Amino acid sequence: MTVFANTQQAQQSFWHPMAHPASVRQSAVTRIVSGEGVYVTDDKGQRMVDGVAGLWNVNLGHNRPEIKAAIMHQLDELAYYQSFDGVSHPRVEELSARLSAMLAPEQMARVMLSSGGSDAVETALKVSRQYWKLVGEPERTRFISLRQGYHGTHFGGTSINGSLVFRRNYEPLLPGCIQIDAPWPYRNPWNAGGEELGALCAAQLEREILAQGPDTVAAFIAEPVQGAGGVIVPPANFWPLVRAVCDKYGVLLIADEVVTGFGRSGNMFGCRGWGVSPDIICLAKGITSGYIPLGATLVNQRIAGAFEQNGNFTGALMHGYTYSGHPVACAAALVCLDLVEREQIPANAAKQGDYLLQALKPFEQKFAAVGEVRGKGLMLALDLVSDKASREPVDPMDGFANQIARVARAHGAMVRPVGTKIILSPPLTIQLPELDILVNALDTAFSQTA
Ligand code: PLP
Repeated sequence: MTVFANTQQAQQSFWHPMAHPASVRQSAVTRIVSGEGVYVTDDKGQRMVDGVAGLWNVNLGHNRPEIKAAIMHQLDELAYYQSFDGVSHPRVEELSARLSAMLAPEQMARVMLSSGGSDAVETALKVSRQYWKLVGEPERTRFISLRQGYHGTHFGGTSINGSLVFRRNYEPLLPGCIQIDAPWPYRNPWNAGGEELGALCAAQLEREILAQGPDTVAAFIAEPVQGAGGVIVPPANFWPLVRAVCDKYGVLLIADEVVTGFGRSGNMFGCRGWGVSPDIICLAKGITSGYIPLGATLVNQRIAGAFEQNGNFTGALMHGYTYSGHPVACAAALVCLDLVEREQIPANAAKQGDYLLQALKPFEQKFAAVGEVRGKGLMLALDLVSDKASREPVDPMDGFANQIARVARAHGAMVRPVGTKIILSPPLTIQLPELDILVNALDTAFSQTA
């Protein structure tokens, strides 16, 4: 094997996603070389609690022998076969049945597999469009989503993305994509909170559907708890009200559970935490705990039935990927789902998430730059402000969040700076001692930097 690590050629060839090439100073790159449980180690030997679980996905922790064994076993049996037009293999069928069973309370009927979250969202958008053609309402083409929402990087997902920063370099995008205000208690146009805010946002959705014309709206899509946009936890009435508005106008409801699926928000699925059954659910990340790429899009019988009843060519799903249902990914997912259930991962996320939130809340008083600490389960954000009273965010260009992350890493905590926020999303297996390491490292980072 040719080892390029640390050579100039390797450093210059690798194009960092989501970063300006010139902004990635090679001397400052955190290069992770190994992982064990909730810890990762960098190339300088620094061991850190993985406060971000890779990228919200290594939910079961690093280097789990059970997952590696399932992958090895599958490689021995069948490394790859396709699942297009009537060909299949056992793992893809087992995983589809398993996901349908797990989501039986939400009445999910069919599963379409892919390679990640962006694929899962793209599948959901295309299935929505096709559904409306199948039921004789082809003019229903528009999608409504939330500001601050993140739905991946394909053209569909980019078009419904709620942050301009992900959209503007790629315009023109899919027409007919509209964003409404997120139910964000800390920052919203009405300075409202609680149930009042949930009702205002649901009313805005209804107004937007009426403004567009209900017979032109295909679907509303949102994350049960917004993740990348800054861990925005909606009031408890928001999702039930959204379901009611969608039902009133026949609009499909898509839950993007790429982050929240499999326990991260403290419930097995985020929408279950809000007591709502969507029509389509997008999953990825925790489905394989990040060991192998995999995405899944599930639809309920309303949608599955429309495809089944249509006997001619239009009922065929003309969508799928070479790696839809990759056997090795399916094998990894099957064992991960066993572990999620056996180890009661959602309950641990709820318990440890409460502890972490309570431990970090005093930062709001202690540090001038911490406007709010918020979260649900093991997804948390520290909102960084230049002025507490006005809640004015820090200037994202001044590098403050990066500086906090750098100091935290030097003190044993891998945390993620995202614009004007510090994001925490550790493995869902984390326990108290490691949470304390995260809290202490962040305390030191703010004390030294603020
Ligand atoms: N949807 C949500 C809610 C996400 O957070 C992400 C990624 O973070 C995606 C979709 C895209 O997933 P991927 O990066 O696997 O394509």
